[in-house]
Amino acid sequence: MAGKCHVILIGPQGSGKGTQAARVAPRLRLVHVATGELFRQLMTRDDELAREVRRYYDRGELVPDELTLRVLVDHLERVEREHPGARGALLDGYPRNRAQAEALDRVLGERSDAIAAVVHLVVPRAVLIERLSGRLVCSTCGATYHVHFNPPLVEGRCDRCGAALVQRSDDTPEAIARRLDTYEQQTAPLLDYYRQRGLVVDIDGNQPIDAVTSAILAALEPVLAEPHRCPSS
Ligand code: ADP
Ligand code: AMP
Repeated sequence: MAGKCHVILIGPQGSGKGTQAARVAPRLRLVHVATGELFRQLMTRDDELAREVRRYYDRGELVPDELTLRVLVDHLERVEREHPGARGALLDGYPRNRAQAEALDRVLGERSDAIAAVVHLVVPRAVLIERLSGRLVCSTCGATYHVHFNPPLVEGRCDRCGAALVQRSDDTPEAIARRLDTYEQQTAPLLDYYRQRGLVVDIDGNQPIDAVTSAILAALEPVLAEPHRCPSS
């Protein structure tokens, strides 16, 4: 996506990144790029790479940085071919540690791309656990639901494509705890990295889904219209 401008979504597991990205990306001319979803698609294959990813994924551990970067860059190139008119990507789930943030800066620098903003979704831990325990995802298109907070129209079926809804293999109590700890230790410190560059917008993610969407749009629309933040607008 040469010369593009991208937005990063940062928040703990269950803070609503996937839910919100699906809603706001089309409104902002951004393409939703979720590394977790890329891995879930990859794991539907029957090969050694799929088995390697699953070993980390099911335990709630991060997939190695080098492999994750390769998957991300391949996908960004595909997005560029398939959505040439997009403003950039809405990155959900990447970067997750300092090495990934530095790799992203390098990759974007080579393309003369910019990071326009980093949206930080703030949600208390007890709420996250309640959300993750009831999360359902579409086995085909990746759309996200919740048994109580965001139920599908027809029980067990995706509103968007009609396929079966399933629980994620990493939404077990042990993997949830491990993922939230990894977030605190490795991902949350990235907020300082981006705050120093004046990029972070904090959003209260502990509100109804529509209210969070409105807050993100209200924060991002003016930022994306600023030529020095987003030259491609
Ligand atoms: P993340 O991508 O950050 O891990 P998700 O978007 O998958 O989070 O959301 C986690 C779960 O919480 C899902 O079941 C989703 O339906 C639900 N959820 C998302 N946002 C809200 C909200 N504002 N209020 C209540 N439940 C929510
Ligand atoms: P998510 O859907 O964002 O909750 O991610 C699910 C899982 O995919 C994580 O627990 C990791 O195993 C893997 N994953 C997703 N994004 C990354 C990343 N940026 N770096 C390493 N592993 C990742």
